[in-house]
Amino acid sequence: AKGDGRGVYRYYADEMTQSARERLHLETRLRRALVDDQLVLHYQPQVELQTGRIVGAEALVRWMDPEHGLIPPGRFIPVAETTGLIGDIGAWVLAEACRQGKAWLDEGLPPLTLAVNVSPRQFRHADLAAQVMQTLIETGLPAEQLELELTEGALMEREQEALDVLQRLRAIGVGVAIDDFGTGYSSLAYLKRFPLDVLKIDRSFIADIPNDPDDMEIAAAVIAMGHSLGIRVLAEGVETVDQLAFLRFKHCDRYQGFLCSRPVPPDEFAALLRAQITR
Ligand code: C2E
Ligand code: CA
Ligand code: CA
Ligand code: CA
Repeated sequence: AKGDGRGVYRYYADEMTQSARERLHLETRLRRALVDDQLVLHYQPQVELQTGRIVGAEALVRWMDPEHGLIPPGRFIPVAETTGLIGDIGAWVLAEACRQGKAWLDEGLPPLTLAVNVSPRQFRHADLAAQVMQTLIETGLPAEQLELELTEGALMEREQEALDVLQRLRAIGVGVAIDDFGTGYSSLAYLKRFPLDVLKIDRSFIADIPNDPDDMEIAAAVIAMGHSLGIRVLAEGVETVDQLAFLRFKHCDRYQGFLCSRPVPPDEFAALLRAQITR
């Protein structure tokens, strides 16, 4: 009842226990998912604008839950991030993407850039460069084919350490992309300090092209700035031919989006590549 302070408190306490219990439950299931091979990677094509050819793929994790079906990463990556499970998941994603990339290479498919997401926590805690080096050796994927997607937040948190990791990755020959560019801290000074290969324009700046003139200015400015710094620019979330035409006109290097394909299972992705070879 109203005014019953203790009752209200009890109510919230129950709520919290409930959500904590749910999180623990999810964490337990997720841990088992890793052991039981319930995680899978889907691949979304990255297309070169000039040629229209698929030149890369972003690996995106999904959870094949026997009870609930395919669970998207937005539903479990944040939990994994807060529980620390992201370290194991991240290591699995990296190894699986590299293994798949090497398998495609061995099947005679053209070399691709394989883009792998690295969460902020994974970037901060693991010895990322050593882990990457080890994984490349174990899988046999050429370093030049691997690209790590980091967020601005991860880089800005401990700049000196971040710079050190990026320099080691550069020395190995692995590429580095800034994911969701324009949505984070965006102190532009870091573009000069960090050795970067790719800026990925966040899809929120692409969605309203050609209706929003501000977004068009921002996208064009990012492309121009990237190029003047010697950094490749990729547009995310391209869904329409108008968006594609605009990006081509502005000399954007690559794009990703439903216009070409949704993220698909590995065999479907390989089929897309084969269709392209025979074209
Ligand atoms: P992200 O890295 O920004 O990935 C792009 C997301 O946009 C993907 O969602 C993709 O399916 C979606 N997308 C691609 N093209 C379009 C489009 O044309 N329109 C629209 N509306 N959406 C598009 P997904 O696969 O659900 O992944 C969501 C987020 O989960 C990712 O965002 C990333 O932050 C995270 N994530 C996914 N896989 C991994 C992973 O292996 N490790 C880590 N740490 N995070 C991951
Ligand atoms: Ca990404
Ligand atoms: Ca992104
Ligand atoms: Ca995004």
